[in-house]
Amino acid sequence: MSKKLADIPVKVIPADGPDDEYEEIQLYAKHKKLYPRWINGFWNKWRIFFVFATQLFFYGMPWATINGRQALLFHLAEQKFYILGLVFLPQDFIYLTALLLMCALGLFVWTAIGGRLWCGYSCPQTVYTEIFLWIEKWVEGDRPARMKLDHGPLTARKVRLKTIKHAIWIVFALWTGFTFVGYFTPIRTLWAETITLTIGPWEAFWVLFYGFATYGNAGWLREQVCKYMCPYARFQSAMFDADTLVISYDAERGEQRGRRQKGCDYKAEGLGDCIDCTMCVQVCPVGIDIRDGLQYECIGCAACIDACDEVMDKVGYPRGLIRYTSDNALQHKYTERDIIKRITRPRVVMYSLVLLIAMGATATALVLRQPIKVNVSRDRVALVREADNGWLENSYRLQIENADEAPHSYKVSVEGLPGVKWIMEGGEHVKVTPDAPVDVGIRVQADPANAGPGSHPIQFVIQAEDDPKLVTHEKSSFIGR
Ligand code: SF4
Ligand code: SF4
Repeated sequence: MSKKLADIPVKVIPADGPDDEYEEIQLYAKHKKLYPRWINGFWNKWRIFFVFATQLFFYGMPWATINGRQALLFHLAEQKFYILGLVFLPQDFIYLTALLLMCALGLFVWTAIGGRLWCGYSCPQTVYTEIFLWIEKWVEGDRPARMKLDHGPLTARKVRLKTIKHAIWIVFALWTGFTFVGYFTPIRTLWAETITLTIGPWEAFWVLFYGFATYGNAGWLREQVCKYMCPYARFQSAMFDADTLVISYDAERGEQRGRRQKGCDYKAEGLGDCIDCTMCVQVCPVGIDIRDGLQYECIGCAACIDACDEVMDKVGYPRGLIRYTSDNALQHKYTERDIIKRITRPRVVMYSLVLLIAMGATATALVLRQPIKVNVSRDRVALVREADNGWLENSYRLQIENADEAPHSYKVSVEGLPGVKWIMEGGEHVKVTPDAPVDVGIRVQADPANAGPGSHPIQFVIQAEDDPKLVTHEKSSFIGR
């Protein structure tokens, strides 16, 4: 009989065994559905807080308006980013790069200090899995009820509960997809088009795509995304050191684990504080046993801390058998104060310094940024011609765009050549509304005595008449003869 490739065992030499002895292992493990148990506790409250804080922002922000426009809109069709009253154009891509850089540096700092805080509390995969688990628990019950339902026969009740759960999941996922697309196209228009079924094909595709991704990742794949798909789980160890806070089981205190009679002298029986109740495993959303040591699958959600603390309270042992600690703290028995002192170690200080420099530079650039964009292009057909007055003339087109949400009237002047003159198409003043750039032609004339053969640097000065501080200088060149 032929065997499936995945079923064929592989021979390996155990790391701690002699070289001529092999051990057979299976490379394929069938996925087992997890049924994380609900747990209350200190860290769970923080998780709930972060779920609400992040989701309030995510679902609420696209509906907020500033100056009558969506406060946060990455308008792909217009190629403009509207961020809290500021308008960013494709030329401002550097700010997006700076923002991404700061996010990455912030993640480095937090990871170096507190390990997988991002994964445990704010990562969309964790947050949506948590929400989907709440819905599942609300409809089907906690772990034992869900296991019983799944392993039981197909009854009308089972079909009803599963239908309700999936219906709520799908509605929630579609709303998430809709909100996500609402960051890239005006959400109020998108909503009006959705309810009148006039939504465009691309918008509909992306709403369904992100809705399906949310439903699939948070409802079905769950911990498998963290274990097998997320690259961050793999490279985060580069930011860890022996003083990084990780969630650890205190093996010295917990072992020898085992069940015991209530009130017995367990230490005399050679037992540690772990009563082997497996609650820490039952609450784990990735299905690992933290008592086996730090594992890359651990997302740092701290559910096992809450579970174990509850058990410790019940049996009357001190809390903290599983806790936030560091490798060094466990090894050298550091106090909390020692652990806190080690936060300001060179790696963290260096990451923080680079982050502060990046933040300072970006903030300065934003403050100095002039909310006006000008693009100068010259007439390439006739680089230089002779005007009626005998002067040399070059023609240019100026594209002037407001990068704030106010209309402005601009005055244009030219500097750089002695006695230079200019003639604007449509008059001296250029009126620009917030919505669209204005394209205007300008002819620049120079005395041939001052503009010999070759290129002469000049600059266009564009200044708002209602706000003299709103001014920009655009460099260009005048071709002489
Ligand atoms: S081991 Fe603990 S902290 Fe890690 S994922 Fe499981 S429950 Fe969360
Ligand atoms: S919850 Fe605590 S006591 Fe129970 S098995 Fe886990 S570590 Fe041991």
